[in-house]
Amino acid sequence: MSEKKLFGTSGIRGLIESEVTTDLALKVGKSLATYLNNTGTVVLGYDTRTTNKMLEQAICAGLLEGGVDVIKIGMVPTPLVGYATEKLNADAGVMITASHNPSPYNGIKLWNKNGMAYTAEQEASIEEIYYAKDFKKPQWDEIGSVNHNEDIKNIYINDLLNTVDIKPGLKVVIDCACGAGSEISPLVFRKAGCDVITLNSQADGFFPGRNPEPNEANLSSLMKTVVSTGADLGIAHDGDADRMITVDEKGNVSDFDKLLALISKKFGGTVITTVDAGLCMDESMEEVGGKVLRTKVGDVNVAELILEEDANFGGEPSGTWLHPDFCMCPDGILSGLRMAEIVSKEGKLSELLAKFPNYPNIREKIVCSKEAKIKVMENMENLLKDAFDDIKEINTIDGVRISFEDGSWVLVRPSGTEDYVRITLEGKTAEKAEYIKDTCKKIIEDNI
Ligand code: MG
Repeated sequence: MSEKKLFGTSGIRGLIESEVTTDLALKVGKSLATYLNNTGTVVLGYDTRTTNKMLEQAICAGLLEGGVDVIKIGMVPTPLVGYATEKLNADAGVMITASHNPSPYNGIKLWNKNGMAYTAEQEASIEEIYYAKDFKKPQWDEIGSVNHNEDIKNIYINDLLNTVDIKPGLKVVIDCACGAGSEISPLVFRKAGCDVITLNSQADGFFPGRNPEPNEANLSSLMKTVVSTGADLGIAHDGDADRMITVDEKGNVSDFDKLLALISKKFGGTVITTVDAGLCMDESMEEVGGKVLRTKVGDVNVAELILEEDANFGGEPSGTWLHPDFCMCPDGILSGLRMAEIVSKEGKLSELLAKFPNYPNIREKIVCSKEAKIKVMENMENLLKDAFDDIKEINTIDGVRISFEDGSWVLVRPSGTEDYVRITLEGKTAEKAEYIKDTCKKIIEDNI
């Protein structure tokens, strides 16, 4: 197998502009057909990017040649592909999207029949077939057929509406980044009884309104519009609407960790998050007698642990939330609806989030080469153990995460894609936070 990786590590399988070719897509289609033993059905959807129809046809051709039937569902949010794969009893789903990445990017994401993303092991199997060009294909009289399904959109919308109960009249501004949520997200909120104002909700692969990554730097229009229209809530999706982040009624982008803590508390029981999520989640779950389990960064890792632990909910601080009572695919539209339900019944979002404590947090990245990154991480657990004497717990599932006796924590983790080692931490006091940061920084710098 080649060293080159077809799939990325953090949810989206991003391909840069020059790699977005029909040749690649055709071979991915053939590889998936081979992986599925040249039988069964695949659901195929795409977001708003300019290269999507071209890639859709190529993937479709590869699947058909490999003897697999294709159900095309058109331009849809990623969660609808996961949902449709399960609902239509398909054997796999394919979504063509580069999620939150800029316009020239594209990517391919695969889904299991239960609506869950392909795991790293499954992706490795596809890669092996792809690079070995080990494509199996049936005879001319056994090639696949194509069907189109428009109805699944309405089934999905109705199912979402049956899942939430929003008090009527809530004023919501929805910013879809001109991405895949543009058509369905505002429609669902209207049908759910909200008074909806839209921003960037015309599908456009050039993303003319804003960059599809929903972070504070990209959401200034939404923040202003929420205030100027006197809205109760702002909701921003990423390019494929599997994520969302809220803006409160004062126009502030919500703290990711606090938002995750607020929604987790509603579910109670066992909830799953990733090693980079903060302390307020543990504290708020303790209050309701629940527990938090942490796994590797990446929504498929969260999904895997949800199934393993039979958890009620799972989410990453990035705003990628999984609602296993609905589907195993992260769903930014359902996440937004559930936040709207909370705000409509319990009051102002700024006040709901202000109930969670503010602990000083620090994020630092230290530049180091690929080789140095591997070397320093090999010994990180021991180096940290020697440096601190108030360690309560060590988690090495993804980098090294240390919880201290007083509740403070630090995560030292190599970047998956860039030449950095990242330090992420929360201290119970500002002094403690500084002390942890300085200590970790010195350890890394002394050992690269
Ligand atoms: Mg996404």
